[in-house]
Amino acid sequence: MKRRQFVQGLGAAGIATGLAACQRSDENTVAVSNRRFNWKIVTTWPPNFPIFHEGVERFTKDIAKMSNNRLRITVFAGGELIPALQSFDAVSQGTVEMGHGAAYYWSGKVPAAQFFTAVPFGLNAQGMNAWMYYGGGRELWQEIYQPFNLTPLPMGNTGVQMGGWFRKKIDSIADLKGLKMRIPGLGGKVMAKAGVNPVLLSGGEIYTSLERGNIDATEWVGPYHDLRLGLHRAAEYYYYPGWHEPGPTLELIINSDAWQQLPEDLQLIVENAAAASNLWMLAEFEAKNLAALKTLREEHKVNILPFPDDVIATLKQLTKEALNEEAEKDATFAKVLKAYRAFAADNAQWSALSEAAYAKTLS
Ligand code: CA
Repeated sequence: MKRRQFVQGLGAAGIATGLAACQRSDENTVAVSNRRFNWKIVTTWPPNFPIFHEGVERFTKDIAKMSNNRLRITVFAGGELIPALQSFDAVSQGTVEMGHGAAYYWSGKVPAAQFFTAVPFGLNAQGMNAWMYYGGGRELWQEIYQPFNLTPLPMGNTGVQMGGWFRKKIDSIADLKGLKMRIPGLGGKVMAKAGVNPVLLSGGEIYTSLERGNIDATEWVGPYHDLRLGLHRAAEYYYYPGWHEPGPTLELIINSDAWQQLPEDLQLIVENAAAASNLWMLAEFEAKNLAALKTLREEHKVNILPFPDDVIATLKQLTKEALNEEAEKDATFAKVLKAYRAFAADNAQWSALSEAAYAKTLS
């Protein structure tokens, strides 16, 4: 098919049909049109939030350059256009074409969405990427978002987070009882089983609540973001590892009608820019966390401690129970849990001989 005739001969409405015809007639030709698209993306992050929001800015600039401005996407931080946690609905309804956030924010609508962010004692960043790109995870994710007219893609990862800041020392599982802790998602459900009172607070409320003693503990992200929030001035003990969020994946959501209107080359540009951002954000976290950890340890003399073995063992057991309980309440959750557990079990066996075994040689 001659591309110019293809482009000139079709109005916007005919593009999808023309695209399919073009793909059929010559599989080596990527369908291109000169049509320009002006899209909007809303994030769930505060304006200029490092790594997350900045990563989205870079993603849209790259797409504009790679597409020679055929796809221009304007970025709005949480609250600038619509409230942060309404982005799922806004993209679903087509008010905006794209959103960036974390799938577990939508657990109230889709409990199984939590698997596509993080599961306590589950996959780390490397495991999540393996599951998403090669292990069937992305297909399951697309399936559960399909009824909402959304197409999801992985776009960013924090790596293993920290366990959190505590105002008192934790020597055993009994020390967790009665603590008020900011911890969202499945991690919060597990902590509740250990006698913790989990509370939900946005990033902006954490420091003051902890500093005033309204909460006894909080998790946030890792050394880089935690140092930036000044949490070392509000609590004495910094625990690791982040068993509750071992490799949280961030998500790009795209309105499926808008997605289907993009020609194939622009779809490929978006997919590859999202994959590049997925890698870039993880790399940036890794580099910035190690510098911030040094500052917390050497400059601020923070007590950085591992959770005691019995605390980890108990939380692991409680995680199994919490996941099973969620599966009993929701059939889709049960379906994804089955697939996730099968992949994670194989991943753990391989990791024991590779990443985990190698990590032991470093200490
Ligand atoms: Ca966190």
